[in-house]
Amino acid sequence: MTDKEILEKLLDLHKIDSQIVKCEDEISNIKEKIKNLEDKINENRRVFSEKKARLDTFKKKRAEIELEIKSKESEIKQKDSQTAMIKTNEAYQALQLEIKTIRSDIQNLEDEILKIMEEEERDIKWLSEQEKLLKSEEKQLTDEISELKKKIAEEESKITNETARRNEAIKGIDRGWMERYERIRKGKRLAMASIEVNKDGDGVCSGCRFSIRPQAVIEVKKKARILTCDNCARIWYIEEVNNIMKV
Ligand SMILES: [Zn+2]
Repeated sequence: MTDKEILEKLLDLHKIDSQIVKCEDEISNIKEKIKNLEDKINENRRVFSEKKARLDTFKKKRAEIELEIKSKESEIKQKDSQTAMIKTNEAYQALQLEIKTIRSDIQNLEDEILKIMEEEERDIKWLSEQEKLLKSEEKQLTDEISELKKKIAEEESKITNETARRNEAIKGIDRGWMERYERIRKGKRLAMASIEVNKDGDGVCSGCRFSIRPQAVIEVKKKARILTCDNCARIWYIEEVNNIMKV
């Protein structure tokens, strides 16, 4: 097998591998998008359940204060019942003052309950509004995710097809070169790099931007010899389409 034949076969394989790499990159892009959407869903749920938990805390706090009010009210009752047994005016005044203080405490506690109830109302309103909004947003996000998952399946089926083509393409490729190709591919994802040629005939390796002398460019162009990059080890090729050198 001539170098030209080997190079052409390797190039066919490289085109298939490029397709596979493109699909793999697309899949990881889509996966990233899915992750972002899932994060958004989780964040929405977290904010919602935090507010809900806050509502529970308010209820508990309110129940505690109500209990405290009850105990203060029974304290007043007790003190009221003592009034009849009081002998001196001073003692009567002192007891009345105690009762007044407790009443004022109760008033403060009731104000506190009102404040809590206002906050509760705000939260309940927010929760009922957000529940609808979040549900529709979550549905939208979930739909987007399933669309993206379909795209992943499409890309995966492309990879399956390309892999089948690949298995055909590797048949009959020179074994030494095939092994070398696979070794480079394992490290760099793609084993071949095109040469970008400027008007003076100087080349640059598209894989690593290494400069290539004109003599090597000519040899690769003619497919006279298979040359690899001294810097990145990739196998060089120049593809000419309608006499325009393709980068
Ligand atoms: Zn290179």
